[in-house]
Amino acid sequence: MQAVVIGSGIGGIATAIRLAVSGYKVTVYESNNYPGGKLTAFEKDGYRFDAGPSLFTLPHLVEELFQIAGERASDHFPYIKKDVACRYFWKDGTELTAWADSEKFADEVEDKLGESRDKVLDHLENVKLLYERTKGLFLEKSLHKWDTYLSKDVIKALQVVHKLHLTESMHEVAAKKFKSDKLVQLFDRYATYNGSNPYKAPGVLAMIPHLEHNIGTFLPERGMHQITEELVALAKRKGVTFSFNSKVDKIHIEGGVATGVKLENGQEHPAELVVSNMDVVPTYRHLLKGQRAPEKTLMQERSSSALIFYWGVNRSFPQLDLHNILFSSNYRREFHEIFDFKEAPSDPTIYINITSKDVKGEAPEGGENWFVMVNVPSNQGQNWKEEIVKTRARIIERINGQFGVDLESHIQVEELLTPELIESKTSSFGGALYGASSNSSMSAFFRHPNFSRQIDNLYFVGGSVHPGGGIPLCLLSARIVDQLVRENA
Ligand SMILES: Cc1cc2nc3c(=O)[nH]c(=O)nc-3n(C[C@H](O)[C@H](O)[C@H](O)COP(=O)(O)OP(=O)(O)OC[C@H]3O[C@@H](n4cnc5c(N)ncnc54)[C@H](O)[C@@H]3O)c2cc1C
Repeated sequence: MQAVVIGSGIGGIATAIRLAVSGYKVTVYESNNYPGGKLTAFEKDGYRFDAGPSLFTLPHLVEELFQIAGERASDHFPYIKKDVACRYFWKDGTELTAWADSEKFADEVEDKLGESRDKVLDHLENVKLLYERTKGLFLEKSLHKWDTYLSKDVIKALQVVHKLHLTESMHEVAAKKFKSDKLVQLFDRYATYNGSNPYKAPGVLAMIPHLEHNIGTFLPERGMHQITEELVALAKRKGVTFSFNSKVDKIHIEGGVATGVKLENGQEHPAELVVSNMDVVPTYRHLLKGQRAPEKTLMQERSSSALIFYWGVNRSFPQLDLHNILFSSNYRREFHEIFDFKEAPSDPTIYINITSKDVKGEAPEGGENWFVMVNVPSNQGQNWKEEIVKTRARIIERINGQFGVDLESHIQVEELLTPELIESKTSSFGGALYGASSNSSMSAFFRHPNFSRQIDNLYFVGGSVHPGGGIPLCLLSARIVDQLVRENA
């Protein structure tokens, strides 16, 4: 049986492995000349940069792919667990280390922010319970099949219904718990892990910090791109064929059944199964032109995008770790500017990721490879040239002020990623990082399912569909596709 996967993002690669293990002859068509989509890397003048994702959580979801393929993950995919999840900086000089150890983190919060350690530990316990009881329903199954609602996962979720914060926003959950505005801001930031606005995202997403604070943050030994490299190698060992520079132009439908794809160069590939890892919006607009599209789903507000400055810096900053956050002074205004005014924030929260802190050879001796990101709206025709100039100046001014340096004089290498470039390199609608935003209480139910309701043998995987964006959820979407294919076999 032939299966075609359109796109070699993390979701596409994981699906290809799973289908190959199930006995399908799988071909992955990828329009770029490299795999990985957003999860890729590049090198410039001795500095290596992970281009997209930098935070790695739930590594067992990568390991699971080796296991189902009959291999030992540790033979191919070594990674470290971080002692420090993140370093936080505020303009008034407050600095906080988010230790992986919850007790140590709670002590640090009490010491630096004056919030009771017991309250912090209690909150982390609550978010753990929330995650444990709801993951089966919201993350691990199709939300769009009736039998999901007849399963024991619903009962588990209902048992914590009082903690589901059904009518509250993420911000309200944190603000009700803590008096320290800084700690509320710290927990609010987790809404950006799926590109959302904490003042609108549903309170149930307060579970996100569980991944980082209770389970941990990790880093592959050679950096994030190793995830793509090792999974592509695994897929090839399982017989998957990757065809690069191969843009799919059309999904063939005959009598309500997907029967294969046509490439832009005219080549045809018949298949019994078609899985699109392309963003769901362009999949409908281009590859399924003429078919009925789920307009309400496709019109959902997009998640945020980002401006990323890759800077090769010729000195080291001992106060920084792998993950670092420099918070803005007015978080509410920042999200208002991103989601309501659709502009780059005037006082952005700045994320600095430096893999050379943990991986050797990432930067020349004495230097560091900085990945500097601020959240911005998805591309809706803004004047990005102007936004980039303004944002770059704001970032440099803030870093200079925070660390007492002249950063510009240390930048030796510079590259840039913008919402427009993310869109052109990966076909993600508007360059959104995570597909649709989760800015409403029903957003989880509005995401596109992992299957087509009208077309048999057509499936959807990746960050723009259920259960959502980010590496772990894309890997879970591949697992759900595999389950659905088996059920329909
Ligand atoms: C800057 C940035 C930072 C991020 N940070 C994090 C993070 O720290 N942690 C985290 O977990 N996640 C993060 N994310 C999100 C994460 O990268 C994505 O959710 C995930 O990688 C998306 O994977 P995907 O399977 O949806 O495919 P994508 O990566 O979107 O790839 C889709 C692939 O399909 C190909 N394609 C599209 N159309 C066609 C076609 N017609 N024919 C053939 N091929 C096609 C594209 O070329 C692309 O290779 C970040 C993303 C970005 C951009």
